[in-house]
Amino acid sequence: RGTMTVGETAKLLHKDASEVIKKLISMGVMATINQELDIDTILLLAAEFGVEVEVKIPVEEDRFETVEEVDNEADLKERPPVVTIMGHVDHGKTTLLDAIRSTNVTSGEAGGITQHIGAYQVEINNKKITFLDTPGHEAFTLMRARGAQITDITIIVVAADDGVMPQTVEAISHAKAAGVPIIVAVNKIDKPDADPDRVKQELTEYELVPEEWGGDTIFVNVSAKQRMGLEELLEMILLVAEVNEFKANPNKRARGTVIEAELDKGRGPVARVLVQHGTLKVGDAFVAGNCFGRVRAMVNDKGRRLKEAGPSTPVEITGLTEVPQAGDPFMVFEDERKARSIAEKRAITQRQSELGSNTRVTLDDLFKHI
Ligand code: GDP
Ligand code: MG
Repeated sequence: RGTMTVGETAKLLHKDASEVIKKLISMGVMATINQELDIDTILLLAAEFGVEVEVKIPVEEDRFETVEEVDNEADLKERPPVVTIMGHVDHGKTTLLDAIRSTNVTSGEAGGITQHIGAYQVEINNKKITFLDTPGHEAFTLMRARGAQITDITIIVVAADDGVMPQTVEAISHAKAAGVPIIVAVNKIDKPDADPDRVKQELTEYELVPEEWGGDTIFVNVSAKQRMGLEELLEMILLVAEVNEFKANPNKRARGTVIEAELDKGRGPVARVLVQHGTLKVGDAFVAGNCFGRVRAMVNDKGRRLKEAGPSTPVEITGLTEVPQAGDPFMVFEDERKARSIAEKRAITQRQSELGSNTRVTLDDLFKHI
């Protein structure tokens, strides 16, 4: 049967062999650099690292070739930016998220019944922006744990009457570590004791310098409560998105991240996912963490049923066998058999690593179970 060594797999995934070995260990697989990995394990690793690989099975059934799937520049299309809001407690993150969400209810979408699906989209100047409405620090924790990029832009909210506080600093360092562009929203400017200039002054210490002071950080004064400055904030997000040219190929199998998941009494396991690459379609077979399924129904943040969802679209899906975890990578496979086999393998590797990493597990042990 066809295999690749750990070393070759590392090269394919643009990772150090040591990183791949570490990941394998976390999956309960003790491997050396020359160890041969089988195709499912390679696909599993690729999904864990967020690298797409395409498997080619030529002439002989037992031989395969794995090549990295690289998008042609021409296939990449502009996609909405994915934005998170972070900042110190009580500085107005929730109020701002709610205010932005409701700015848009009137435009377009009939009824405007918003549905909580962990993220939502608004439209301004005919362009969409996706907001993750899970707390920003959670999104970043997930990103760090998975090494996956979920958010494109971070809004750091600082209350103008309170100034830079410990969680402000923490948020800045998270965003910087992840290399995510920062926009500062100076909030609560309606308050009599608001001092937006003090906030600017304090933030220069963290290398966030406004343009008028010779820096390149965008600051927007807002009042989430009085809905002031929201349009400007949204326009600034579009500006940053334009500069960064966030793109994805919509014409391939979908890949993304689970934002939230739960067991619904009536509908069974429900997952809210952010599609990041490709287009997710009703009927697609997929793996999400240890779970697999086939998309039975898909609903957007306005409660509208969708047949397909392209890059940067948050959707709620049903049709899973079990409840995945927030942060789990989500990936569509060509058929349900492959999806099932990968999900089962993941479940086993997870159980193995939970059983204790002292036990030596070989690939043969691992494959015996399936
Ligand atoms: P979070 O902890 O960052 O999510 O903060 P919240 O959104 O829960 O806001 C904390 C408190 O500040 C609430 O009582 C809000 O009503 C209030 N608040 C939020 N934004 C503003 C604002 O722009 N102006 C004023 N005056 N109060 C605000
Ligand atoms: Mg809050």
